[in-house]
Amino acid sequence: MSTTPVDSTVTGLANPYEDLEAQLRGYAIKPADPAYDEARAVYNGMIDRHPAVIVRCADAADVVACVRFARQHSLEVAVRGGGHNAGGLGVWDGALVIDLSLMRGTTVDPANHVVRVDGGCLWKDVDHATVPFGMAAPAGTVASTGVGGLALGGGVGHLTRRYGLTVDNLLSADVVLADGSLVTADTEHHPDLFWALRGGGGNFGVVTSFRFRCHDVGENGIVIAGPVFYDIADIGDVMRWYREFLPAQPRELNGWIGIARVPSIPLFPEEIHDRRVCMIIWSYTGPHADAERVLAPVRGFGNPLLVGLQNMPFTALQSLFDPLVPAGLQWYWKADFVTELSDEAIEIHRKYGEAIPTELSTMHMYPISGAAQEVPTGDTAFAYRGGGWAGVIGGIDPDPANAQLISDWAKVYWEELHPTSAGGAYINFIMDEGPERVRASYLENFERLARVKAQYDPDNVFHINQNIPPAAD
Ligand SMILES: Cc1cc2nc3c(=O)[nH]c(=O)nc-3n(C[C@H](O)[C@H](O)[C@H](O)COP(=O)(O)OP(=O)(O)OC[C@H]3O[C@@H](n4cnc5c(N)ncnc54)[C@H](O)[C@@H]3O)c2cc1C
Repeated sequence: MSTTPVDSTVTGLANPYEDLEAQLRGYAIKPADPAYDEARAVYNGMIDRHPAVIVRCADAADVVACVRFARQHSLEVAVRGGGHNAGGLGVWDGALVIDLSLMRGTTVDPANHVVRVDGGCLWKDVDHATVPFGMAAPAGTVASTGVGGLALGGGVGHLTRRYGLTVDNLLSADVVLADGSLVTADTEHHPDLFWALRGGGGNFGVVTSFRFRCHDVGENGIVIAGPVFYDIADIGDVMRWYREFLPAQPRELNGWIGIARVPSIPLFPEEIHDRRVCMIIWSYTGPHADAERVLAPVRGFGNPLLVGLQNMPFTALQSLFDPLVPAGLQWYWKADFVTELSDEAIEIHRKYGEAIPTELSTMHMYPISGAAQEVPTGDTAFAYRGGGWAGVIGGIDPDPANAQLISDWAKVYWEELHPTSAGGAYINFIMDEGPERVRASYLENFERLARVKAQYDPDNVFHINQNIPPAAD
């Protein structure tokens, strides 16, 4: 990422942001303000960046004012949605941060199964709006994640097999472009931009509003879900069974698999606290009359330490893990797409599963199969449509003193595992891995993305992201 020098005509003034502030319905937070440290903090406690100014925008007009001001004064622009990005791409040293956290309104249209969502919403805002009507927009697995970053990168979660990725359910987006104009992109208007937004991340502009298609989940929003834990010693049998079993099941059943240590919380029996496990988080969102038939093999396989499946509102499933991972922990992520869960890979998972360094460190593999696999690679910017999983290794711990320990574990685990992968990685699961990894994540879609970038952001104003440089003429 390039660093643009800050214009001295801005920095030399007593309040260089006076002109900008006069245009805002929201407000600006500057380094001397008491709120600055709280405002520059993001979800990953490893990130410690000092923006020039953080503008809490109230509406699209505020966003336009920020983009124009930043360009006029040669300030770099960072865009903050939910602030969850592992690499902390919502904030940047010396940048003007367009902070969307005040923009969290939703409008639900139950009759047409559509929800309109402001650009700064978290997924819990969306679930709150839709689940009382028995429906949801496909999202991820943690409710405090921002809609903006997750949706623009792809969006894998509990509903992927049944209803596709989040991008597969995007109907339209209102976008402030690099020239300060505001457009609506959908299949008929700015179709290239709409294509690029569905997986291309924050490269193309600031999305101030998303419209998503919603789908029925469970019965009146009640689903059957929860974890099944197996001792790590059983990981070979479990993963070999799972890789054959899941693709043959109805799409109402989703199950993502991983390794973890059982959290030492009252929710789980004390005798399994801190046990190293292979876990599958199952969710069944279909008709309840069929649930027992579908779930019987899930409950019955192997020698589980715990079968935690139960009825719950879809909102509870979406927020199941939120209490375990509050903001401010140390996170180090490495990721890959995985087409085949090979025997060789399983042995590597066993090795690093036995050596998980801290209680929260983990590895997850989220299926990108079923409905998500049916969408041709060229239909959206999100490219890995060949089935398989989005895998992520997360070294996680509250204590900054363990930052090296968790990073080292994730790095060596990934280095050994990477040759068994499909090559690229889900851009929302990587930190700063350089341009070649970004290119690899888009396969043959990369060149088209670079062309759309050249059309909509030729000066690469929006480059604090997994950057796609504009194609040369
Ligand atoms: C605990 C946790 C669980 C997660 N689980 C899942 C999961 O289950 N499935 C999944 O797919 N991902 C998951 N993720 C990854 C998540 O998708 C990414 O971290 C994503 O970048 C978060 O988006 P955000 O808006 O919160 O982040 P931010 O840090 O605010 O932004 C991330 C990037 O998106 C851009 N951006 C954000 N909002 C906008 C907008 N409105 N317009 C333009 N650009 C924008 C930013 O500029 C930045 O480049 C998880 C992350 C965490 C930390």
